[in-house]
Amino acid sequence: MALAESQILKRYDDVQARIIAAAGRPDHDVRIVAVTKAFDALTVEAVARCGIVDIGESYAQECVAKLAAVSLKPSLRVHFIGRLQRNKVRKLAACVDVWQSIDRVVIVDEISRRVDEAGRRTESVDVLLQVNLTGAASQGGCEPSAVETLASRIDDSKLNLLGLMTIGPQRSLAESRHCFRQLRHMADELGLPHCSMGMSTDLEVAVEEGATMVRIGQSLLGVRP
Ligand SMILES: *Cc1c(COP(=O)(O)O)cnc(C)c1O
Repeated sequence: MALAESQILKRYDDVQARIIAAAGRPDHDVRIVAVTKAFDALTVEAVARCGIVDIGESYAQECVAKLAAVSLKPSLRVHFIGRLQRNKVRKLAACVDVWQSIDRVVIVDEISRRVDEAGRRTESVDVLLQVNLTGAASQGGCEPSAVETLASRIDDSKLNLLGLMTIGPQRSLAESRHCFRQLRHMADELGLPHCSMGMSTDLEVAVEEGATMVRIGQSLLGVRP
């Protein structure tokens, strides 16, 4: 059963309040990406009716099938935040607006090719580079030392590089803070405005360290089915 809109709105207000407290001001620049992975199309529609624009999906097949069933797709900005496989990029190109998990050159090249094929201007497609700062291979992301090369490849491809993304270690807030501070520093060095970092459990430290996008699942939608 889909979540009630009133429930989502209540939780959205709670998340906003946490961000405002961490940012120390109500007019912060932190965008909330509602992570709808594992939730059904009806829940995505309820999210859209709440006026939430940015949603995050992690699994290619699920993302493509679900978004095809969502009538409110035009009012949503779909962020892909999961591991990217090259052979899934073509299908994703039809429904993804922001690619957050780019971590290797073949993926940059494939996205730029498929976006072109889909008849979209590469300049209008937003991307972030995912950086692995925890050493956990399961999380994906490139080595910090690879970021510069990838950023220039994205430049060549004319995709619109917004910034960097990382997944915190999910062990302690002190360790999350350390990673988030590193990511913000790397983005600043490259002159990139956006840092996508922080999830339900560590959004406060992410905001304190300069996140501009937080990816929130459970705090907005409850336990995943
Ligand atoms: C699932 C997921 C999230 C959301 O996690 P919550 O703990 O539900 O807030 C954020 N980012 C990524 C990359 C995820 O896979």
